[in-house]
Amino acid sequence: MTSERALPLICVEEGSLEAAALTASHAHWAVANGSNDLGPDAFEREIRSFAGRHGMSVTAIIGDDLLSQNFPMIHAVGRASAQAPRLLDLSWGNTNDPKITLVGKGVTFDTGGLDIKPSSGMLLMKKDMGGAANVLGLAHAIMDAKLRVRLRVLVPVVENSISGSSFRPGDILPSRNGMTVEIGNTDAEGRLILADAITLADEESPELILDMATLTGAARVALGPDLPPLYSTDDALARALMEQGLASDDPLWQMPLWAPYDAMLSSKIADVNHVSSGGFAGSITAAMFLKRFVVNAKAWVHLDIFAWAPEPRPGRSFGGTDQGIRSVYGVLKQRYS
Ligand SMILES: [Zn+2]
Repeated sequence: MTSERALPLICVEEGSLEAAALTASHAHWAVANGSNDLGPDAFEREIRSFAGRHGMSVTAIIGDDLLSQNFPMIHAVGRASAQAPRLLDLSWGNTNDPKITLVGKGVTFDTGGLDIKPSSGMLLMKKDMGGAANVLGLAHAIMDAKLRVRLRVLVPVVENSISGSSFRPGDILPSRNGMTVEIGNTDAEGRLILADAITLADEESPELILDMATLTGAARVALGPDLPPLYSTDDALARALMEQGLASDDPLWQMPLWAPYDAMLSSKIADVNHVSSGGFAGSITAAMFLKRFVVNAKAWVHLDIFAWAPEPRPGRSFGGTDQGIRSVYGVLKQRYS
């Protein structure tokens, strides 16, 4: 399957059922493409093609430009791959409308890095761009409905690979917002690239930053594959998303940004460690790490999604699948139609 045949299906025909129609297309996309067909170069082409079809402006910051433009963690995570790391920045809509910024984890393949995954854990890691695929699906639904928002979509695209230039456990990385980050485990790479992208999103004080990421196994231990944890700084918004999720057959479940657990991220030699030292509350501590990078945004939502259906179910085929799109779209539609 060539990459040219993959992503265009995410752009559904006019008059189709909005976000619901994206299910099959995303599933097709993630299933049909191994990471050999969808590395960072091809993924950028697909995202540019998506942007072009929707009249979005798009810029890309690639390779060493990530260093000169201060995205050190995106660079560090992706620099070991033969295909350079990059940050895609897409915009659409009237700049005077409320600013909604979506951030999607675009890890085209995750070996775990030097903290390499076992075979069983690596097998499905072509799906580690499921967050990016889902925010693009959500963006499509928002633009298709012409919601009155200024939409921005940020996708850090990297392959977490292994070579002599890999970042290492124990490294201290600078971050875009100035915090130093001690690397506890190179397999917790998603939160690092999200942190730099969230910082960029936060700099313009948007109404809402919403990120989606296939972030933690702990989320699946807690709630299983079909019920993604939802974290938010805005409890009313979280409740609205949960209600909409139940109504849209797209359930989400609010989990706490539990402040006392922030101490699990303490580091003796940096401002923060990106993973906790113990095995407890791994989805919550990942969310607490990301929360440190949200300063100015009025609200922030983080969805720790699985983006994979182990078995086909009514309305969803086997493989890569949408999670959270229908719920979030439903709430945004009520607010910004
Ligand atoms: Zn990982």
